[in-house]
Amino acid sequence: MIDSVKIHVESGNGGNGCISFRREKYVPHGGPNGGDGGQGGSVIIEADENLSTLLDIQNKRHYRAQSGAPGEGSNKRGKQGDDLIIKVPLGTKLIDIDKEMILGDLITQGAQVIVAYGGLGGKGNARFASSTKQTPKFAQNGEKGQKKEVALELMLIAEVGIIGFPNAGKSTLLSKLSAAHPKIGEYPFTTLYPNLGVVKIDEFRSFVAADIPGLIPDAHLGAGLGDRFLRHIERTKVLVHLLEAQEAVERFHALNKEMSLYNPELSAKPQIVVISKMDILETEEEWERIKKDMNHMGIEPLAVSAVTGKGIQQLIWRVAEVLGVKQK
Ligand code: GDP
Ligand code: MG
Repeated sequence: MIDSVKIHVESGNGGNGCISFRREKYVPHGGPNGGDGGQGGSVIIEADENLSTLLDIQNKRHYRAQSGAPGEGSNKRGKQGDDLIIKVPLGTKLIDIDKEMILGDLITQGAQVIVAYGGLGGKGNARFASSTKQTPKFAQNGEKGQKKEVALELMLIAEVGIIGFPNAGKSTLLSKLSAAHPKIGEYPFTTLYPNLGVVKIDEFRSFVAADIPGLIPDAHLGAGLGDRFLRHIERTKVLVHLLEAQEAVERFHALNKEMSLYNPELSAKPQIVVISKMDILETEEEWERIKKDMNHMGIEPLAVSAVTGKGIQQLIWRVAEVLGVKQK
């Protein structure tokens, strides 16, 4: 899964200022008329809703904008270097690797961040003329462009994240939630990101759900690839917390603790608690007991079986309700 790419960017150098003098008949040294150098081009990263992956960037890691041209005589300013625009999908976060600083978060169509500013053009000698120095024989060099290592991180923009311990049934549930709708094949990213699925609410409305694997104790420390996937939960609006019947309450707490250690905002997101694999639940009492324990915590759990399909539609409706999708 491509979701993080490092690139090297270089803005263009500014053009040098020019040293030049007017040539006039009978005047050995006319006044200075060296123009300024042109500004170098900047490297700009822009959000484009037509893209859904960082694949293009994976294949090209070096980017350099054009330098400005030197100034010329007759006070002619050098031509500016062209900016270089790199297009990325919506949701891409930009990080300056050396400074460990976030340069921007591109979440709206057309949004731009200048990641390397073009160098300023140098001043021509015309600029340095004064009453005491009428024929300055020097000009300024253009400013060098900036060089930076930038990390691009694409957060999957899924509104719904399915969380739970390994084996809870997350992947199976996601496939069940989206497989009923063959249209899913039309979304190009579903093949690139096998853990994303488009879930249909009704004829017109759908939401994107992501299966978030690897959440285990100490995931926030990087155990079990957890950290990498935890980042993907950050933008979801709703979490479906999937639990097997055994130790459901204990595991519910353990996973929430893990999330809050990583980022307290995550555990503050609305959660829909779902008990999985209802088809293998031994007795009805077992379900009643879990339900009662959850009710005590102010939670109304749902129950599903990916095998029989029981509870799947109710879950879709509950998600739609929490997302604020109006019933028709
Ligand atoms: P994940 O690790 O949370 O993604 O869990 P998986 O989706 O891979 O499921 C783990 C195991 O549970 C697999 O062997 C699945 O076939 C099984 N499983 C998932 N959902 C159900 C279910 O609703 N009923 C039954 N009986 N088994 C299930
Ligand atoms: Mg899985």
